[in-house]
Amino acid sequence: MRHIDEYRDKDLIRKLSDLIKRVSNLDYTFMEVCGGHTAAIHRFGIPSLLPENIRLISGPGCPVCVTHNSFIDKAITYSKMDDIIVTTFGDLLRVPGTGSSLEKEKAMGADIRIVFSGPEALDIAKSNSDKKVIFLGIGFETTAPGIAVTIKEVEKAGTENFYLLSAHKVMPPAMEVIIKEGVKLNGFICPGHVAAITGSEYFNFISTKYNIGCVITGFEPVDILHSIYMLVNQVNSSSPKTEIQYSRAVSKGGNVIAQKNMNDIFIPCNEYWRGFGEIASSGLKLRREYERFDAGKMMPIKVNFQEDNELCICGDILRGLKTPHECSLFATACVPENPVGACMVSIEGACNTFYKYRVNE
Ligand code: SF4
Repeated sequence: MRHIDEYRDKDLIRKLSDLIKRVSNLDYTFMEVCGGHTAAIHRFGIPSLLPENIRLISGPGCPVCVTHNSFIDKAITYSKMDDIIVTTFGDLLRVPGTGSSLEKEKAMGADIRIVFSGPEALDIAKSNSDKKVIFLGIGFETTAPGIAVTIKEVEKAGTENFYLLSAHKVMPPAMEVIIKEGVKLNGFICPGHVAAITGSEYFNFISTKYNIGCVITGFEPVDILHSIYMLVNQVNSSSPKTEIQYSRAVSKGGNVIAQKNMNDIFIPCNEYWRGFGEIASSGLKLRREYERFDAGKMMPIKVNFQEDNELCICGDILRGLKTPHECSLFATACVPENPVGACMVSIEGACNTFYKYRVNE
């Protein structure tokens, strides 16, 4: 393993930038799927190191951003019930639902607790046996295995008051929707953390079925520039394929133990995504034998959710159709301290990232 400084080496960055400029003789549009990449790309000023004929656009890989209003509204509804404690990652707290947010409900007295992991939520359940504890499970293939292990631990401990409200998602179906209905892409900067779990072969169908290249990419500036160079070469040679740039963390087959844990506990289901609506087989729900831990099954509720504020273009941004600068509320009515939409809440959200690094453009 090399030291992280090597991936931020200024000479290497300059050389890669020059190399990319030298070989880029076409127009290229690449989508970074992962919110972590969106944040890194703008934090490190990657667009300023690229020629004008390379366009980077953000995709649907910020888990908080794609969490649908109906999920937030369900969590809020549960939080208003006297015998329920809602546990959640902190980012989700400020995402606006229909007319409220978990943060507002917490301020009004709802028992909503921030946790950093599933086991922390399990501890809360163990020490509050007179309450039902619901954990809000969001995220992609990266987080689902950890939650799967928590469910196994809940079962082993015989804890009967722990429930999961799952909005877990998997990436390929959303990428397929973007390919079929969205902007014309020349390549994907693919999520390194997801691929560390799934393996790179998980993305092979994108090049074999749709002739679009994928490079599994790390999160440092050298990683990102290197992957852009690899994608440019794929386009120039008309040979789209799935390649691994992030070889220090990703293999072809991925982490088989994590995959097993995920598959032991979850099965695919249809899932709602902000900006996309319902996507077939894009979510993960608990298998039948674990349904007793499923909040939605054991405590069914219905919510009348509304879509986003009509001026908020989060949905278009998540589909790669628009940038935050095209939103009339960006950096005026919508700022990180007072977010109108989910993309301004999360540190991986495109609007939050643009606000931090590109507000004056
Ligand atoms: Fe939505 Fe705010 Fe982003 Fe506009 S700036 S798209 S209102 S989150």
